[in-house]
Amino acid sequence: MINWDKLTEHLEQRGFTARRFASAQEAADYLNSAIDGVSVGFGGSMTVQEMGLYPKLSTHNNTVWHWNKDGLDQAAATDVYICSANGLAETGEIVNIDGVGNRVASTIYGHKRVYFVVGKNKIAPDFDQALWRARNIAAPKNCQRLNLKTPCAAKADRCYNCNSPERSCRVLVVLWEKPRDVETMEVILIDEELGY
Ligand code: SF4
Repeated sequence: MINWDKLTEHLEQRGFTARRFASAQEAADYLNSAIDGVSVGFGGSMTVQEMGLYPKLSTHNNTVWHWNKDGLDQAAATDVYICSANGLAETGEIVNIDGVGNRVASTIYGHKRVYFVVGKNKIAPDFDQALWRARNIAAPKNCQRLNLKTPCAAKADRCYNCNSPERSCRVLVVLWEKPRDVETMEVILIDEELGY
């Protein structure tokens, strides 16, 4: 059972702005109104894709999608950056694992505003369990989706801590607090399961 009030309180204590929504639709409507007339980079994220944020925001912003050609470099230079988290602790730590590193780099430096869009399935009671889910749930499922030659990809049941050439887990970033030079960092909490 998620303690939303505690989670919100812990995020705010760490300098993040927490906003709660009952549905992905309500969260998407909020983001669509809050982000207008600026450049927006999107980190590779199933959550963001499922919410249809890229087409929505593209009608009134200058958008760059991470998975498009040249998207990686261009998305690093936008005003706003949107991605999800692989794990979010109720104690407020945000956990992300990356292969290239562009997505996690963009969550800590180079953008005025950063939004983490987080479904309830990403939330764990404490840091250790948020890290565990990032490594054993999010990462293997991403490997399976990408059809990588890693031991986790067949069943996506857990991390095997591999050293495969195609290993996608090469960088771990934990946000303890909002990085100093990012003006605002919002965590969009959604009471629905989104992404993995
Ligand atoms: S370290 Fe290897 S086995 Fe573990 S999730 Fe990453 S790619 Fe899969």
